[in-house]
Amino acid sequence: MTATLIDGVAISRVTRESWRIRADALKSRGFTPGLAVIIVGENAASKLYVRNKVKACGEMGLHSELIEYPDSVSQADVLAKVEALNGDPSIHGILVQLPLPKHFDAERVLESIAPSKDVDGFHVENAGALATGLPGFWPCTPHGVMVMLDYHKVPLQGAEAVVVGRSNIVGKPQALMLLARDATVTICTSKTRDLAFHTRRADVLVVATGRPKIVTGEMIKPGGVVIDVGITRMPDGKLCGDVDFESARLVAGMITPVPGGVGPMTISMLLANTVLSAERSTGGRASVTQLRAVPVV
Ligand code: NDP
Repeated sequence: MTATLIDGVAISRVTRESWRIRADALKSRGFTPGLAVIIVGENAASKLYVRNKVKACGEMGLHSELIEYPDSVSQADVLAKVEALNGDPSIHGILVQLPLPKHFDAERVLESIAPSKDVDGFHVENAGALATGLPGFWPCTPHGVMVMLDYHKVPLQGAEAVVVGRSNIVGKPQALMLLARDATVTICTSKTRDLAFHTRRADVLVVATGRPKIVTGEMIKPGGVVIDVGITRMPDGKLCGDVDFESARLVAGMITPVPGGVGPMTISMLLANTVLSAERSTGGRASVTQLRAVPVV
């Protein structure tokens, strides 16, 4: 058996088109959704990520502002900028690219973003909303995974879902989103005694560890759905996922590649959250909740 490929680039295209239509509807009423991206320091990977985010905004016709600071900037200056953006009516989403330099208290900076503009979904108020099933912004990467699962109509109710990794930006929110869809969820961490025991039971397996090829074909349930969130740049310059794609695709029913899987969906959901925030701020579709993944078609 060879697994069906879950093509993040193709699903991303469909997703962005549906959100572009919503953005256009706002623009026809005189409101252009706007995203501000703050980056501190010279981290090359971070710079590439923010450039891609700003470019994606442009392609969808959204307004974007890129605010770049040198490593030496003070936290007070960044907090003052966030405060100004919180009150700027042309900005509906604020994103502070992580990691921040060591002299920053990243938590303090993230908590300074108004929850109503926290399109990354990292603010404790949005994390709490997700945990309790209230409307709020969902973190983009796990939200993108939910859209991919829905696009392929993967049954979640009663499914055994296993999430490997428990970070606040991927693993934990992913588990909560799957739980909200009535999956039976197991979370594995670096302290899990027998990882393969758990992964082999998974109808849906989401791996987000940053450990290249930690999950191999023999750790996968035949016919299971495998979502590989991990991205590691290897010494040869190539990107590598957390799943050994070659052995896994012979066992899984569906699988995401790296690159071209979850990555493009993360930016799509950032754009979606920015448009959603603009809709909320202008009173249109303000009651939209994200209790389920957004419809993509
Ligand atoms: P973190 O380092 O914050 O978390 C990694 C998690 O993996 C931790 O919970 C850790 O457990 C767990 N883990 C580590 N080793 C093992 C192991 N041997 N067995 C089981 N669990 C293990 O990473 P992130 O969640 O931020 O990111 C994970 C990966 O996803 C990275 O490769 C990152 O680059 C990628 N990523 C991709 C995105 C995309 O757009 N495609 C977006 C965000 C991230 P413990 O808590 O016990 O330490």
